[in-house]
Amino acid sequence: MSQVEKNPQAVWEALQAGNERFVTHREERPNQDSTRRVALRTGQSPRAVVLSCSDSRVPVELVFDVGLGDLFVIRTAGQIIDQAVLGSLEFAIEALDVDLVVVMGHESCGAVKATAAALEGDAIPSGFQRVLVEKVAPSILEARSQGMSGIVDYERQNVTETVNQLMTRVPQLRERLNDGRIGAVGLRYRLSDGCAETVVTYGVE
Ligand SMILES: [Zn+2]
Repeated sequence: MSQVEKNPQAVWEALQAGNERFVTHREERPNQDSTRRVALRTGQSPRAVVLSCSDSRVPVELVFDVGLGDLFVIRTAGQIIDQAVLGSLEFAIEALDVDLVVVMGHESCGAVKATAAALEGDAIPSGFQRVLVEKVAPSILEARSQGMSGIVDYERQNVTETVNQLMTRVPQLRERLNDGRIGAVGLRYRLSDGCAETVVTYGVE
């Protein structure tokens, strides 16, 4: 992927092609040898930043069939956002000059399930886990306000809301989207078939 031309649409298409290879078991496993590893020791130039759920069933580099130095990956349960996430994202946009911001939720997300259950009256997790539910809850409430009630809809809405939050809170992302220097996509990875389905796109198609 590092060889593709620097533009959002090309990077988005390269990721889609990688996911297609993953889904159809035609992986090329690029950029995973020692030559690549050594070549990267003086710096990195990933073309996309990915904010995904920490879930062990969502291995980002495998899902997109990429290798060393290809993706700048940020992971939190439920792909929730805090200041460390925003700082990491800003770094990827400003210092690494990535072409694409990807937010990836997934099928059967425990954070979404726990939040939906808490909103139905189940106990809210204690300790630091409480923040996971607090940060996912607005997505589910928004989905409900739009008449949605299924867990798949909640998972998609949590992706949409996360992309919206990033665009609202990260001025560098907004500016670059406005002048076409960056794209942003929200995806929902399906455990069942390996497809990273598109939920929302900005600046790419
Ligand atoms: Zn999850």
